[in-house]
Amino acid sequence: MAPPGAGLDFRSDTRTVPDARMRAAMAGAAVGDDVYGDDPTVTRLERTVAELLGTEDALLTPTGTMANLLAPVAAFGPPGAPGPRLIVGAGAHMAFLESDGLRRFGGAEPLTVPQLDDGRPEPGALAALLAAGAGRPTVVCLENTSMMRCGNALDAGATRAVAALAHRYGAHLHLDGARLANAAVALGVRPAELAEPADSVAFSVSKGLGAPVGGLLCGTGEFIARARELRTWLGGSLHQAGVLAAPALVALGRLPDLAADHRTAAALAAGLAAVPGVELIRPPRPTNMVMARVPGLAAGECAARLAGHGVRVLPLPNGHVRFAVHRAHDIIGVRAAVRAFAAVAATAQPATDGELPGRGASLTSMEEA
Ligand SMILES: *Cc1c(COP(=O)(O)O)cnc(C)c1O
Repeated sequence: MAPPGAGLDFRSDTRTVPDARMRAAMAGAAVGDDVYGDDPTVTRLERTVAELLGTEDALLTPTGTMANLLAPVAAFGPPGAPGPRLIVGAGAHMAFLESDGLRRFGGAEPLTVPQLDDGRPEPGALAALLAAGAGRPTVVCLENTSMMRCGNALDAGATRAVAALAHRYGAHLHLDGARLANAAVALGVRPAELAEPADSVAFSVSKGLGAPVGGLLCGTGEFIARARELRTWLGGSLHQAGVLAAPALVALGRLPDLAADHRTAAALAAGLAAVPGVELIRPPRPTNMVMARVPGLAAGECAARLAGHGVRVLPLPNGHVRFAVHRAHDIIGVRAAVRAFAAVAATAQPATDGELPGRGASLTSMEEA
Protein backbone atom coordinates (compact mmCIF):
# COMPACT_ATOMS: atom_id res chain seq x y z
CA MET A 1 0.00 0.00 0.00
CA ALA A 2 2.49 2.60 -1.17
CA PRO A 3 1.33 6.22 -1.31
CA PRO A 4 1.42 7.87 -4.74
CA GLY A 5 4.98 8.62 -5.81
CA ALA A 6 6.50 6.55 -2.98
CA GLY A 7 8.54 4.65 -5.55
CA LEU A 8 10.48 7.83 -6.30
CA ASP A 9 10.70 9.22 -2.77
CA PHE A 10 14.19 8.32 -1.58
CA ARG A 11 14.43 10.89 1.24
CA SER A 12 14.38 8.39 4.08
CA ASP A 13 13.67 4.78 4.87
CA THR A 14 11.21 6.04 7.49
CA ARG A 15 8.90 6.91 4.61
CA THR A 16 7.30 3.50 4.37
CA VAL A 17 3.62 3.21 5.22
CA PRO A 18 1.94 0.26 6.96
CA ASP A 19 0.47 -2.13 4.44
CA ALA A 20 -2.75 -4.15 4.65
CA ARG A 21 -1.21 -6.95 6.72
CA MET A 22 0.20 -4.48 9.26
CA ARG A 23 -3.11 -2.64 9.49
CA ALA A 24 -4.93 -5.93 10.03
CA ALA A 25 -2.46 -6.82 12.78
CA MET A 26 -3.12 -3.45 14.43
CA ALA A 27 -6.88 -3.93 14.23
CA GLY A 28 -6.69 -7.39 15.76
CA ALA A 29 -3.97 -6.73 18.36
CA ALA A 30 -4.54 -8.05 21.86
CA VAL A 31 -3.97 -5.12 24.22
CA GLY A 32 -3.73 -4.40 27.92
CA ASP A 33 -2.12 -1.41 29.58
CA ASP A 34 1.64 -1.35 29.21
CA VAL A 35 1.97 1.11 32.10
CA TYR A 36 0.62 -1.73 34.25
CA GLY A 37 2.88 -4.18 32.42
CA ASP A 38 0.04 -6.29 31.05
CA ASP A 39 -0.14 -5.50 27.35
CA PRO A 40 0.58 -8.95 25.88
CA THR A 41 1.54 -7.69 22.42
CA VAL A 42 4.06 -5.18 23.79
CA THR A 43 5.51 -7.87 26.02
CA ARG A 44 5.80 -10.21 23.04
CA LEU A 45 7.55 -7.50 20.98
CA GLU A 46 10.00 -6.74 23.80
CA ARG A 47 10.78 -10.47 24.27
CA THR A 48 11.19 -10.96 20.51
CA VAL A 49 13.62 -8.06 20.11
CA ALA A 50 15.59 -9.02 23.26
CA GLU A 51 16.01 -12.49 21.77
CA LEU A 52 16.91 -11.10 18.33
CA LEU A 53 19.65 -8.94 19.87
CA GLY A 54 20.71 -11.45 22.52
CA THR A 55 20.05 -9.13 25.45
CA GLU A 56 18.32 -9.92 28.74
CA ASP A 57 15.53 -7.43 28.21
CA ALA A 58 14.13 -4.76 25.88
CA LEU A 59 11.90 -1.73 26.29
CA LEU A 60 9.53 -0.28 23.71
CA THR A 61 9.95 3.47 23.18
CA PRO A 62 7.94 5.73 20.88
CA THR A 63 11.08 6.56 18.87
CA GLY A 64 14.69 5.60 18.42
CA THR A 65 15.54 9.09 19.66
CA MET A 66 13.95 8.33 23.03
CA ALA A 67 15.81 5.02 23.27
CA ASN A 68 19.08 6.91 22.67
CA LEU A 69 18.14 9.51 25.28
CA LEU A 70 17.28 6.94 27.92
CA ALA A 71 20.50 4.95 27.42
CA PRO A 72 23.09 7.30 28.99
CA VAL A 73 20.80 8.21 31.87
CA ALA A 74 19.94 4.58 32.62
CA ALA A 75 23.61 3.59 32.32
CA PHE A 76 24.69 5.96 35.09
CA GLY A 77 21.91 6.17 37.64
CA PRO A 78 20.84 6.91 40.22
CA PRO A 79 18.43 9.44 38.75
CA GLY A 80 19.54 12.93 39.71
CA ALA A 81 23.23 12.12 39.47
CA PRO A 82 25.27 14.36 37.14
CA GLY A 83 24.88 13.22 33.56
CA PRO A 84 27.69 11.39 31.81
CA ARG A 85 30.08 12.51 29.13
CA LEU A 86 28.83 11.19 25.83
CA ILE A 87 31.43 10.53 23.14
CA VAL A 88 29.90 10.27 19.70
CA GLY A 89 31.07 10.33 16.09
CA ALA A 90 30.73 13.80 14.56
CA GLY A 91 28.49 12.60 11.73
CA ALA A 92 26.26 10.38 13.86
CA HIS A 93 22.53 10.95 14.31
CA MET A 94 23.11 11.32 18.07
CA ALA A 95 25.62 14.12 17.42
CA PHE A 96 23.87 16.30 14.92
CA LEU A 97 20.18 15.59 15.53
CA GLU A 98 19.98 14.49 19.16
CA SER A 99 22.75 16.27 21.08
CA ASP A 100 20.57 19.19 22.25
CA GLY A 101 18.02 16.78 23.68
CA LEU A 102 20.72 14.64 25.27
CA ARG A 103 22.21 17.75 26.87
CA ARG A 104 18.96 19.34 28.07
CA PHE A 105 16.88 16.31 29.00
CA GLY A 106 19.60 13.73 29.63
CA GLY A 107 22.05 16.03 31.42
CA ALA A 108 24.75 14.54 29.20
CA GLU A 109 27.79 16.35 27.90
CA PRO A 110 28.09 15.44 24.21
CA LEU A 111 31.66 15.35 22.86
CA THR A 112 32.28 14.59 19.20
CA VAL A 113 35.11 12.59 17.66
CA PRO A 114 36.14 12.28 14.00
CA GLN A 115 35.08 9.06 12.32
CA LEU A 116 37.02 6.58 10.20
CA ASP A 117 35.78 5.75 6.70
CA ASP A 118 33.82 2.81 8.12
CA GLY A 119 32.02 5.01 10.67
CA ARG A 120 33.94 4.03 13.81
CA PRO A 121 35.29 6.80 16.04
CA GLU A 122 38.92 7.45 15.18
CA PRO A 123 40.71 5.31 17.83
CA GLY A 124 43.42 7.83 18.74
CA ALA A 125 40.92 10.64 19.24
CA LEU A 126 38.60 8.34 21.18
CA ALA A 127 41.41 7.16 23.46
CA ALA A 128 42.47 10.76 24.11
CA LEU A 129 38.94 11.78 25.10
CA LEU A 130 38.53 8.71 27.28
CA ALA A 131 41.86 9.38 29.02
CA ALA A 132 41.01 13.06 29.55
CA GLY A 133 37.82 12.14 31.38
CA ALA A 134 39.13 9.14 33.30
CA GLY A 135 37.07 8.57 36.43
CA ARG A 136 33.99 10.39 35.13
CA PRO A 137 30.94 8.49 33.93
CA THR A 138 31.30 8.16 30.17
CA VAL A 139 29.20 6.65 27.40
CA VAL A 140 30.75 5.89 24.02
CA CYS A 141 28.21 5.78 21.20
CA LEU A 142 28.63 3.80 18.03
CA GLU A 143 26.26 3.84 15.08
CA ASN A 144 25.58 0.73 12.95
CA THR A 145 24.90 1.22 10.14
CA SER A 146 26.77 4.51 9.98
CA MET A 147 24.51 7.14 8.49
CA MET A 148 27.07 9.71 7.32
CA ARG A 149 29.31 6.91 6.05
CA CYS A 150 26.61 6.12 3.55
CA GLY A 151 25.05 3.31 5.57
CA ASN A 152 28.25 1.34 6.06
CA ALA A 153 27.73 -1.91 7.99
CA LEU A 154 30.21 -2.53 10.82
CA ASP A 155 31.06 -6.13 11.56
CA ALA A 156 31.33 -7.61 15.04
CA GLY A 157 35.13 -7.32 15.04
CA ALA A 158 34.98 -3.56 14.46
CA THR A 159 32.39 -3.20 17.22
CA ARG A 160 34.48 -5.33 19.60
CA ALA A 161 37.49 -3.08 19.00
CA VAL A 162 35.50 0.01 20.04
CA ALA A 163 34.05 -1.88 23.02
CA ALA A 164 37.51 -2.97 24.18
CA LEU A 165 38.77 0.62 24.15
CA ALA A 166 35.66 1.97 25.91
CA HIS A 167 35.76 -0.75 28.55
CA ARG A 168 39.45 -0.19 29.24
CA TYR A 169 38.40 3.22 30.59
CA GLY A 170 35.29 1.95 32.38
CA ALA A 171 32.97 3.54 29.81
CA HIS A 172 29.59 2.18 28.72
CA LEU A 173 29.27 1.33 25.02
CA HIS A 174 25.91 2.29 23.56
CA LEU A 175 25.14 1.07 20.06
CA ASP A 176 22.73 3.19 18.05
CA GLY A 177 21.44 0.32 15.94
CA ALA A 178 18.57 2.12 14.24
CA ARG A 179 19.60 0.16 11.14
CA LEU A 180 21.30 -2.80 12.84
CA ALA A 181 18.96 -5.13 10.93
CA ASN A 182 20.33 -3.77 7.63
CA ALA A 183 23.87 -4.35 8.87
CA ALA A 184 23.12 -7.93 9.94
CA VAL A 185 21.44 -8.79 6.64
CA ALA A 186 24.22 -7.18 4.58
CA LEU A 187 26.91 -9.05 6.51
CA GLY A 188 24.96 -12.30 6.69
CA VAL A 189 25.18 -12.53 10.48
CA ARG A 190 22.66 -12.61 13.32
CA PRO A 191 21.81 -9.19 14.80
CA ALA A 192 22.82 -10.59 18.20
CA GLU A 193 26.37 -11.07 16.97
CA LEU A 194 26.63 -7.37 16.11
CA ALA A 195 24.98 -6.31 19.39
CA GLU A 196 27.05 -8.57 21.65
CA PRO A 197 30.03 -6.24 22.32
CA ALA A 198 27.76 -3.33 23.36
CA ASP A 199 26.34 -2.65 26.82
CA SER A 200 23.11 -1.27 25.39
CA VAL A 201 21.50 -1.10 21.96
CA ALA A 202 18.83 1.14 20.46
CA PHE A 203 16.97 -0.66 17.70
CA SER A 204 14.39 0.75 15.33
CA VAL A 205 11.42 -0.95 13.68
CA SER A 206 10.32 2.14 11.75
CA LYS A 207 13.25 2.48 9.35
CA GLY A 208 13.65 -0.11 6.59
CA LEU A 209 11.68 -2.68 8.56
CA GLY A 210 8.66 -0.56 7.77
CA ALA A 211 6.60 -0.44 11.00
CA PRO A 212 4.85 2.90 11.53
CA VAL A 213 6.36 3.70 14.95
CA GLY A 214 8.85 2.37 17.42
CA GLY A 215 12.26 2.04 18.95
CA LEU A 216 13.49 -0.55 21.41
CA LEU A 217 16.19 -0.05 24.01
CA CYS A 218 17.95 -3.31 24.83
CA GLY A 219 20.33 -4.33 27.59
CA THR A 220 20.57 -6.11 30.92
CA GLY A 221 17.49 -6.63 33.06
CA GLU A 222 18.74 -4.11 35.61
CA PHE A 223 19.52 -1.48 32.95
CA ILE A 224 16.12 -1.89 31.31
CA ALA A 225 14.33 -1.67 34.67
CA ARG A 226 15.97 1.74 35.23
CA ALA A 227 15.16 2.81 31.67
CA ARG A 228 11.54 1.77 32.19
CA GLU A 229 11.24 4.11 35.17
CA LEU A 230 12.96 6.95 33.27
CA ARG A 231 10.68 6.43 30.28
CA THR A 232 7.73 7.27 32.53
CA TRP A 233 9.44 10.52 33.58
CA LEU A 234 9.84 11.47 29.94
CA GLY A 235 6.19 10.80 29.23
CA GLY A 236 7.10 7.91 26.98
CA SER A 237 5.00 5.22 28.65
CA LEU A 238 2.10 4.27 26.41
CA HIS A 239 -1.08 2.53 27.50
CA GLN A 240 -2.71 0.29 24.85
CA ALA A 241 0.55 0.20 22.91
CA GLY A 242 -0.18 -3.28 21.58
CA VAL A 243 -1.65 -1.60 18.50
CA LEU A 244 1.87 -0.28 17.78
CA ALA A 245 3.68 -3.44 18.81
CA ALA A 246 1.56 -5.60 16.45
CA PRO A 247 2.80 -4.04 13.18
CA ALA A 248 6.33 -4.04 14.62
CA LEU A 249 6.08 -7.83 15.01
CA VAL A 250 4.94 -8.08 11.38
CA ALA A 251 7.94 -5.93 10.41
CA LEU A 252 10.38 -8.18 12.29
CA GLY A 253 9.05 -11.16 10.37
CA ARG A 254 10.15 -9.39 7.20
CA LEU A 255 13.72 -8.77 8.29
CA PRO A 256 15.28 -10.92 5.53
CA ASP A 257 13.48 -8.74 2.94
CA LEU A 258 16.07 -6.03 3.62
CA ALA A 259 18.40 -7.94 1.29
CA ALA A 260 16.13 -6.86 -1.58
CA ASP A 261 16.56 -3.20 -0.56
CA HIS A 262 20.32 -3.67 -0.61
CA ARG A 263 20.16 -5.13 -4.12
CA THR A 264 17.99 -2.22 -5.23
CA ALA A 265 20.50 0.25 -3.75
CA ALA A 266 23.34 -1.55 -5.54
CA ALA A 267 21.45 -1.25 -8.83
CA LEU A 268 20.90 2.45 -8.17
CA ALA A 269 24.60 2.94 -7.41
CA ALA A 270 25.59 1.12 -10.59
CA GLY A 271 23.16 3.23 -12.64
CA LEU A 272 24.39 6.51 -11.16
CA ALA A 273 28.05 5.52 -11.53
CA ALA A 274 27.51 5.29 -15.28
CA VAL A 275 26.15 8.85 -15.53
CA PRO A 276 28.87 11.23 -16.80
CA GLY A 277 29.77 13.91 -14.29
CA VAL A 278 28.22 12.23 -11.25
CA GLU A 279 30.32 11.45 -8.18
CA LEU A 280 29.21 8.71 -5.91
CA ILE A 281 29.92 7.50 -2.38
CA ARG A 282 29.62 3.82 -1.70
CA PRO A 283 30.98 2.58 1.59
CA PRO A 284 33.11 -0.53 2.20
CA ARG A 285 30.10 -2.62 3.33
CA PRO A 286 27.11 -1.03 1.62
CA THR A 287 23.48 -1.46 2.71
CA ASN A 288 20.51 0.62 1.56
CA MET A 289 22.05 4.06 0.95
CA VAL A 290 23.64 5.83 -1.96
CA MET A 291 25.11 9.34 -1.85
CA ALA A 292 25.77 11.24 -5.04
CA ARG A 293 26.65 14.71 -6.22
CA VAL A 294 27.28 16.69 -9.35
CA PRO A 295 30.46 18.72 -8.78
CA GLY A 296 29.64 22.42 -8.87
CA LEU A 297 25.98 21.87 -7.98
CA ALA A 298 25.00 22.48 -4.33
CA ALA A 299 23.18 19.60 -2.65
CA GLY A 300 20.05 21.67 -2.00
CA GLU A 301 19.91 22.81 -5.63
CA CYS A 302 20.51 19.27 -6.86
CA ALA A 303 17.65 17.98 -4.67
CA ALA A 304 15.36 20.76 -5.91
CA ARG A 305 16.12 19.96 -9.55
CA LEU A 306 15.56 16.24 -8.97
CA ALA A 307 12.24 17.06 -7.30
CA GLY A 308 11.35 18.84 -10.54
CA HIS A 309 11.71 15.43 -12.19
CA GLY A 310 9.56 13.79 -9.49
CA VAL A 311 12.49 12.28 -7.57
CA ARG A 312 12.81 13.19 -3.88
CA VAL A 313 16.19 12.94 -2.13
CA LEU A 314 17.76 14.39 1.01
CA PRO A 315 20.45 17.07 0.61
CA LEU A 316 23.29 16.56 3.10
CA PRO A 317 25.89 18.88 4.61
CA ASN A 318 28.62 16.87 2.86
CA GLY A 319 27.49 18.29 -0.49
CA HIS A 320 25.86 15.06 -1.61
CA VAL A 321 22.23 14.06 -1.88
CA ARG A 322 21.16 10.88 -0.14
CA PHE A 323 19.06 8.10 -1.55
CA ALA A 324 17.69 5.82 1.21
CA VAL A 325 16.24 2.73 -0.43
CA HIS A 326 13.31 0.91 1.20
CA ARG A 327 10.59 -1.60 0.43
CA ALA A 328 8.52 0.74 -1.74
CA HIS A 329 11.40 0.97 -4.24
CA ASP A 330 12.03 -1.32 -7.16
CA ILE A 331 14.10 -1.43 -10.33
CA ILE A 332 11.50 0.62 -12.24
CA GLY A 333 11.89 3.46 -9.72
CA VAL A 334 15.66 3.09 -9.84
CA ARG A 335 15.71 3.50 -13.61
CA ALA A 336 13.51 6.59 -13.37
CA ALA A 337 15.78 8.03 -10.67
CA VAL A 338 18.91 7.42 -12.76
CA ARG A 339 17.27 9.08 -15.80
CA ALA A 340 16.32 12.09 -13.66
CA PHE A 341 19.85 12.34 -12.25
CA ALA A 342 21.32 12.12 -15.74
CA ALA A 343 19.06 14.98 -16.87
CA VAL A 344 20.11 17.12 -13.89
CA ALA A 345 23.81 16.32 -14.40
CA ALA A 346 23.61 17.10 -18.12
CA THR A 347 22.27 20.60 -17.52
CA ALA A 348 24.52 21.37 -14.53
CA GLN A 349 27.79 21.88 -16.40
CA PRO A 350 29.54 20.28 -19.33
CA ALA A 351 31.82 17.46 -18.21
CA THR A 352 35.51 18.23 -18.67
CA ASP A 353 36.87 16.35 -21.65
CA GLY A 354 38.50 13.12 -20.62
CA GLU A 355 37.19 13.28 -17.07
CA LEU A 356 35.94 9.94 -15.84
CA PRO A 357 32.54 9.72 -14.24
CA GLY A 358 33.29 9.99 -10.55
CA ARG A 359 33.33 6.68 -8.75
CA GLY A 360 35.63 6.69 -5.79
CA ALA A 361 34.83 9.92 -4.00
CA SER A 362 36.94 9.83 -0.89
CA LEU A 363 35.01 9.28 2.29
CA THR A 364 37.58 11.19 4.27
CA SER A 365 36.95 14.24 2.13
CA MET A 366 33.36 14.37 3.35
CA GLU A 367 32.64 17.57 5.19
CA GLU A 368 30.44 17.15 8.17
CA ALA A 369 28.36 19.89 9.69
C1 LIG B 1 16.30 7.48 12.56
C2 LIG B 1 17.47 7.35 13.44
C3 LIG B 1 17.36 7.57 14.81
C4 LIG B 1 16.09 8.06 15.46
O1 LIG B 1 14.98 7.25 15.27
P1 LIG B 1 13.52 7.91 15.38
O2 LIG B 1 12.64 6.73 15.58
O3 LIG B 1 13.30 8.63 14.10
O4 LIG B 1 13.54 8.81 16.56
C5 LIG B 1 18.49 7.40 15.58
N1 LIG B 1 19.65 7.03 15.04
C6 LIG B 1 19.80 6.80 13.72
C7 LIG B 1 21.12 6.36 13.17
C8 LIG B 1 18.71 6.96 12.88
O5 LIG B 1 18.88 6.76 11.58
